[in-house]
Amino acid sequence: MKDEGISRRSFIRSAAAAGLAAGFSTPLPAFAENLIKDKNSKTAFIYSDKYLSHLLSEGHPESPKRLEAILKRLRDSGLEDDLIKIAPEDKDATEWISKVHSEKHIKLVEKQARSPEICRLAVSGALAAVDAVCTGKAKNAFCALRPPGHHATDTGEYGFCFFNNVAIAAKFAKEKYGLKRILIADWDFHHGNGTEWTFYEDPSVFFFSTHKLEAFPFTGFPDRKGKGEGYGFNINAPLPSGADDKAIIDAFENKLLPAAENFKPELILISAGFDCRKDDLLGDFKVTDKGIARLTEMIMGLAGTYSKSRVVSLLEGGYNTGGLALAVESHLTMLLK
Ligand SMILES: [Zn+2]
Repeated sequence: MKDEGISRRSFIRSAAAAGLAAGFSTPLPAFAENLIKDKNSKTAFIYSDKYLSHLLSEGHPESPKRLEAILKRLRDSGLEDDLIKIAPEDKDATEWISKVHSEKHIKLVEKQARSPEICRLAVSGALAAVDAVCTGKAKNAFCALRPPGHHATDTGEYGFCFFNNVAIAAKFAKEKYGLKRILIADWDFHHGNGTEWTFYEDPSVFFFSTHKLEAFPFTGFPDRKGKGEGYGFNINAPLPSGADDKAIIDAFENKLLPAAENFKPELILISAGFDCRKDDLLGDFKVTDKGIARLTEMIMGLAGTYSKSRVVSLLEGGYNTGGLALAVESHLTMLLK
């Protein structure tokens, strides 16, 4: 991975040298080299140190250590130098949160979360990522955010989730950028019940999920296909205990790809839960980092064909911090390709 980073940087340096050959009389100042680097980057990395201050109970697996492990791995591998770093805007996202959640839920989160402002900042991170890819600042984006969101419905905190970041991001992309068809692919070990709930009757947002049925929140049956106009726009593809790369890749290839080819999404959002990875503390799937790379590649293939390569990926679960960091590295390496 280090080599990959180095070769990317050499390319940037040679681009700068080409600029000199083309007639620049003085070497490029440092800031210009940064501009060149940004121009050649295509993956935005959305993160705020404030995400570390969100705390659940002592010893809880959804802890700041998750993000710390990701940051360390990206630093050690050199991958961080290749990313366009974006901090979420410190602006109250309640206007957008209320497109998905009721006032009652928002008030409940105010009481339940130790730092509700960080829950709102996670949403702001998701919105910043949509802005980055929809304005062309980046081709794709990964949000290293906490708390996660895909279990959140309208009943207060659920499964470590407060606000449904990915669902709010989809509503935001539709309203702000006029997108008509958005695909959400959720490969978290757990079913994204909150996302399904949000768009169950909505044909403009296609929801696809792989997960284990016999695990929290015990939803995600394959006969749940959507309702009314939304019928056919919800695919649950549960997998058995021990599901490996082949099992999850087959589900994406055989169930998601044909449906997405019909749907032709203008933007793809990923609920990137890395608790589907082997050795997770809360999951019992056996997906490897190569499997994660392949899933990412498939999504990028779809996005390349239908969505002008626009992919926004949001961190959901993943509780073995070492494994999580490696999986994110694999995911980002592919997003950068
Ligand atoms: Zn999960």
